[in-house]
Amino acid sequence: QARKSRSRVFLPHLVASMEEVQETYVMVKPDGVQRGLVGEIISRFENKGFLLKGLKLFKCSKELAEEHYQELKGKHFYPKLIEYITSGPVVCMAWEGIGVVSSVRKLIGATNPLQAEPGTIRGDLAIYPGRNVVHGSDSPENGHREVALWFKADELCEWVPAQLPWLRE
Ligand code: ADP
Repeated sequence: QARKSRSRVFLPHLVASMEEVQETYVMVKPDGVQRGLVGEIISRFENKGFLLKGLKLFKCSKELAEEHYQELKGKHFYPKLIEYITSGPVVCMAWEGIGVVSSVRKLIGATNPLQAEPGTIRGDLAIYPGRNVVHGSDSPENGHREVALWFKADELCEWVPAQLPWLRE
């Protein structure tokens, strides 16, 4: 039976219910790029089995950074955060999968890397909140919003990975 969806890649191979398919925006922040952690960070999500839909190295404008972090305007760290995010290239990623939003947040770990569990990206690779190497959308709504904000439609790729039959029982 045909199902209607934004996302066609996982159908009918991987999902039982379209409601479960989400997308999330992940970004290696400038410190992650400068410290040579891009491959390490991408591997965490790749190894988990999520589907990479978009990927680019990008130097973002102040306007884009401000739009991305609009919910944090007014926080004491906001000006420094905008300066940090625009200080060098970032690696932008769009990932898709069942429960990808909260799973990616768990793989990333707590905002303050000193409180992030060992085994998480921030827990293993960072110390300061203002240098916490990676971003992940905090809700499915923000996942859609941020993927659309950082990627043009033709930068997102629909494809079927060869390992697909081995990802789902
Ligand atoms: P997260 O990225 O874990 O979702 P937030 O959305 O609360 O966290 O904050 C966005 C980013 O702002 C954080 O990842 C971090 O880089 C920065 N930030 C948050 N809190 C602080 C803080 N107290 N001091 C410095 N930077 C902060």
